[in-house]
Amino acid sequence: MISETIDKHLISAACKLLRSAQSVAIVTHMSPDGDAMGSALAMYHYLKLIGKDPVAVLVPNAFPDFLAWMPAADQVVIYEDRQVECSTILSAADLVFCVDFNELKRIGKMADAVAQSPAKKIMIDHHLNPADFPDVIISHPESPSASELVFRFICQSGNFSLVNPPVAQCIYTGMMTDTGNFSFNSNHPEMYNILSELVRIGVDKDAIYNQVFNTFSADRMRLMGYCLYRKMKIYPKNHTALIWLDRRELYRFNFRAGDAEGLVNLPLSIKDVYYSVFIREDKDKLKISFRSQGDRPVNEYAATFFNGGGHKNAAGGESYNTMEQTLQCFESTFEEWFK
Ligand code: 5GP
Ligand code: MN
Repeated sequence: MISETIDKHLISAACKLLRSAQSVAIVTHMSPDGDAMGSALAMYHYLKLIGKDPVAVLVPNAFPDFLAWMPAADQVVIYEDRQVECSTILSAADLVFCVDFNELKRIGKMADAVAQSPAKKIMIDHHLNPADFPDVIISHPESPSASELVFRFICQSGNFSLVNPPVAQCIYTGMMTDTGNFSFNSNHPEMYNILSELVRIGVDKDAIYNQVFNTFSADRMRLMGYCLYRKMKIYPKNHTALIWLDRRELYRFNFRAGDAEGLVNLPLSIKDVYYSVFIREDKDKLKISFRSQGDRPVNEYAATFFNGGGHKNAAGGESYNTMEQTLQCFESTFEEWFK
């Protein structure tokens, strides 16, 4: 049915660790998106189904409201709000799954608690250059989503029959969001075989689309309008667009976790814009997102100038300088890279 892309030795090493574990924690990256929540919650339901108890999903900070409908989202423990509880869970766990991130830096302040946990660790991820802290590393940068890898992991563990509607819904959500509803990174024929299985199992893909993409607040919609009308700068020669927002602007639109999701993609709808950059003031730093189309990598640029990384067409980074300095840094460097 679905080909076995994950190395069999890694599957058996992971299954061996799973057999001897009872208490399992699942950890995913800061500012969790649909794929982070999808891969973590799919794994949560699967581990429950194979008899693991307790199982906990731990995230560094809040996830967006448009993912709150996901099965068991109400069980997720947010480190920023419940630090002691998270650390206790991590120090008591036998096994920690690290899904949808490749290095401890990506889980922010939760990194120390994960690093210090005596638990064995299994990474299931699709970012380049996985760090070597886990005991088992299942890393497939060519995979469009970590959620798809969790599906493959379950299947290759011989448990396709356990994929029930909650597991399938979580996996579908990650596959849908990390491909922009199958509009990029989506030319993988087998992905559609998996989607077809998920729909057969009971995923209502139209309902999930509506839950994720048609539940904006009026403020979020107005923020998008504001960005496009007032804050989008276009560099026609370089086929590049830039949007930037400071804290005052975010406050004005009652900014909440997830409200910036997808904003960086909007300028790519403009003819001849192939690169898009979005800079947003966060609590203690500036968060920067990069997107591009086709064979135009942005991850190396993000790594070189903004302490970041990611995928060829979707990368991120950060800056601890002021907005003005950061804009200057961008404007004096991007022309050489964005061609
Ligand atoms: P986003 O712009 O949606 O926050 O991130 C897009 C992609 O870039 C993510 O899937 C992630 O792989 C990567 N990314 C975002 N921020 C960072 C960062 O600070 N460091 C690294 N290494 N990758 C990042
Ligand atoms: Mn992902």
